[in-house]
Amino acid sequence: MAVSRAAPAGSVPGDRARGGTPRGALAELLAGNRRFVSGQPVHGHDVTAAAASASGDQQPYAVLLGCIDSRVPLEAIFDQTFGSICVIRTGGHVLDRAVLGSIEYVVDELGVPLVMVLGHERCGAVDATVGALRTGRRPPGALAHLVDRIAPAVTEVGLDDPQVQPLAVRRHVRRTVAALRADPTLSAPIAAARVAVAGALYDLSTGEVALLDPP
Ligand SMILES: [Zn+2]
Repeated sequence: MAVSRAAPAGSVPGDRARGGTPRGALAELLAGNRRFVSGQPVHGHDVTAAAASASGDQQPYAVLLGCIDSRVPLEAIFDQTFGSICVIRTGGHVLDRAVLGSIEYVVDELGVPLVMVLGHERCGAVDATVGALRTGRRPPGALAHLVDRIAPAVTEVGLDDPQVQPLAVRRHVRRTVAALRADPTLSAPIAAARVAVAGALYDLSTGEVALLDPP
């Protein structure tokens, strides 16, 4: 299939530049997801685009924190190309200091206006956490760290809730968004409306991204 070079529908020219708005960045991301869902991506991840983006400074317009799940490749589901977004992935999109430092760098040094936390249905990290809390057995090694960080979301929903897994996925996204908004380094640009943090959920069946916690 030929890769179109036309400007993608719904894109916001100029938002790639430093100082773009959170609203424009969010609109561009969601437009990319609509292109992906409709089977009409414009980015083919070709060598020409890679070389062009590598030749100058990077000017991404968003930073995304998502899960390591192999079914949720963030650049693909938002139809993004080289240089357009920064992506951080951890199991269950757990936020630790390395992740936080990376986000602070992108916001402070690269002037990115949007941080998005993307959870997804049927997340294995949330499954593992529900299982650990039910059985009382923490997993071995560093996986226990992930479970510990996700456990508050599961506990808030309650293990007795028959919908504990899907509800905990959503709660964990909202808790992660809240933690980012409370970060001392991010709170000032957020208060000045230069930066926004959004929470969203990816549907494995349809490919659609729904906003859970708009900026
Ligand atoms: Zn996951």
